[in-house]
Amino acid sequence: MPIITPSQVKPDYDVIVVGSGAAGGQTAYTLTMEGAKVLMLEAGRDYDPGKETPMFQTNAQAPLRGTGTPDKPFGFHDATIDGGWQVPGEPYTQTTEDPARHFEWWRARMLGGRTNHWGRISLRNGPYDFKARSRDGLGFDWPFTYEQIAPYYDKVEMLIGVSGSNEGLENTPDSPEGILQPPPAFRTSEHLGKKFMARLGIPAIPIHRAVLTKRQDPAVLPAKIHPGNLRAQKILAQSMSERAACFWATPCGRGCAIRANYQSTTVHLPPALATGNLDLVTNAMVREVMLNPQGRAGGVLYLDKTTGTEHRATARIVVLAASACETVRLLLNSQSVRFPQGLANSSGLLGKYLMDTVGSSLSAQIPLLENLPPMNEDGAGGGHIYTPWWLYKQQLAGKLGFARGYHIEWGGGRGMPGMGAGAGLEHFTRGSYGRKLKEDARRYFGSFMYFAGRGEMIANAESRCELDPVVKDKWGIPVLRFNWHWSDHELKQAEHMEQTFTEIVRAMGGVVTGHVASRNRGSDKYPIEKGGRIIHEVGGAIMGTDPKQSVTNEWCQTWDVPNLFLTDGAPFVGNADKNPTLTIMALAWRASEHMLAEMKKGSL
Ligand SMILES: Cc1cc2nc3c(=O)[nH]c(=O)nc-3n(C[C@H](O)[C@H](O)[C@H](O)COP(=O)(O)OP(=O)(O)OC[C@H]3O[C@@H](n4cnc5c(N)ncnc54)[C@H](O)[C@@H]3O)c2cc1C
Ligand code: SF4
Repeated sequence: MPIITPSQVKPDYDVIVVGSGAAGGQTAYTLTMEGAKVLMLEAGRDYDPGKETPMFQTNAQAPLRGTGTPDKPFGFHDATIDGGWQVPGEPYTQTTEDPARHFEWWRARMLGGRTNHWGRISLRNGPYDFKARSRDGLGFDWPFTYEQIAPYYDKVEMLIGVSGSNEGLENTPDSPEGILQPPPAFRTSEHLGKKFMARLGIPAIPIHRAVLTKRQDPAVLPAKIHPGNLRAQKILAQSMSERAACFWATPCGRGCAIRANYQSTTVHLPPALATGNLDLVTNAMVREVMLNPQGRAGGVLYLDKTTGTEHRATARIVVLAASACETVRLLLNSQSVRFPQGLANSSGLLGKYLMDTVGSSLSAQIPLLENLPPMNEDGAGGGHIYTPWWLYKQQLAGKLGFARGYHIEWGGGRGMPGMGAGAGLEHFTRGSYGRKLKEDARRYFGSFMYFAGRGEMIANAESRCELDPVVKDKWGIPVLRFNWHWSDHELKQAEHMEQTFTEIVRAMGGVVTGHVASRNRGSDKYPIEKGGRIIHEVGGAIMGTDPKQSVTNEWCQTWDVPNLFLTDGAPFVGNADKNPTLTIMALAWRASEHMLAEMKKGSL
């Protein structure tokens, strides 16, 4: 990636974008394709998926056979560099010793952020999700409708490439004709699960993932995405023609050197850089937003991590896209006489209403899957199927005892065995050796399935982050302190997940082999993961229609500082069961179009 140094930074950008993940990548893409001059500041180092992705290394070629370590929690092959549950020298703290109230924070300090690794599950929020309070009186409504955000979902799906199908199910939106890529074939375990779930009245449909199942059409899509902008169309056509289709052989969490799946580093940043409108500085740790004498955002202060020197960058607009919690931290650290409680915090709500996804999981052994041959699709990571929430009517009638739904990510197959594969087999074999051990390994390998519930969390003020009054990171910047709270709705939802998974396993004639590990639990009584464990954190600077009750308006524009925008998950007012990243990108696109329109009018 062409990258500049702090000494090459110019004084007159239109927009500064902090962060280069899904939010920063999308914001910079939309702005630069329309001609805005953008400076992107990224705290992590440069990362080139084409050269660095360990797609084809076997376990034998990996240190410790690829197993997880504190600095590589997901193992050697994971695309995440300089990240994990802990980042050395950059701690975070908790308000209490009680582990059930802890929030765990996964960060990736690298160009492209977490998009190099993420699961690529890309589900649209549905119409109910944007007006949840109007339906059941809990949480908040978003300040816009599904219909208003739908055109941006269309554009993001066409740009990044999302495979899946249209099924016409309740609150599970279809995409317009010609947008989705075809879904991949189901694996054996997925066919089997679908059959038995149908008997229980539980749906199973192709999952939507940001993976190209065929090459994108550079002759058609760019004109749909950038109507009337011939230069943008040409640049995008070139970028699309450099992306290959998936060959179903390597787990996507390693990253994708052939650009078949979406990563900011392979999909957003190359065309944005090709416009010539993007300057990018890596190892640039932004510490605060500066105010100008007019009380507007004048730019940012950042540290060059390679030298430890401090620099200023200036622009007409500042966009924070550093991931929800980090964006809140930046605002809380931007204190001034005018904003002593942190920038854009006149409502006092900054840091409140932090959300994650409700998570519970269960694994099982299914005798019907024993001794099966491998399939071509087995090699790739990620499920090809999922179960959208199906009990809307029962829930609305008050029959479930909790307010919001969940979807199930499930599957199994013969992926490449990792370190520890086969551990615990003696539970089934009762101990075997020699030839019998090999036969047993072949018999059982691929006969295990997992079921992971991913449920909606309703915003509550007790789940929050604030500045720790004492602890600072290695750069001297105050760190975040978290407090977490699951309400009864989430706890009971997790319980329902577990009951459902157990019922499915029983119907398939299987045996439950594991539940949410006790060290990950966010409750003594309920099978729920700790806050943050699903890595879908959003909120902390909620959007709304009233400046006293929210931090931003519907354009992710802070009420207090009109030229300051937050385009990551921070302005989310709810966290529907649908994984958040597609919505982050759609919102970022919408907010960026608003910035462009306001700059054109001269009001920004
Ligand atoms: C294992 C895993 C699986 C996931 N699976 C899915 C999935 O299937 N579907 C889904 O929707 N979501 C998934 N997610 C979540 C998804 O990755 C995030 O929602 C998404 O990346 C958020 O985008 P972002 O741009 O806000 O943050 P990030 O992608 O984290 O990017 C933020 C960037 O900002 C930089 N930054 C932070 N602070 C500063 C600073 N002070 N100065 C300068 N730069 C800074 C960071 O270094 C980083 O590069 C998954 C995440 C993980 C880790
Ligand atoms: S499975 Fe496909 S999309 Fe995923 S990393 Fe491998 S080639 Fe890329």
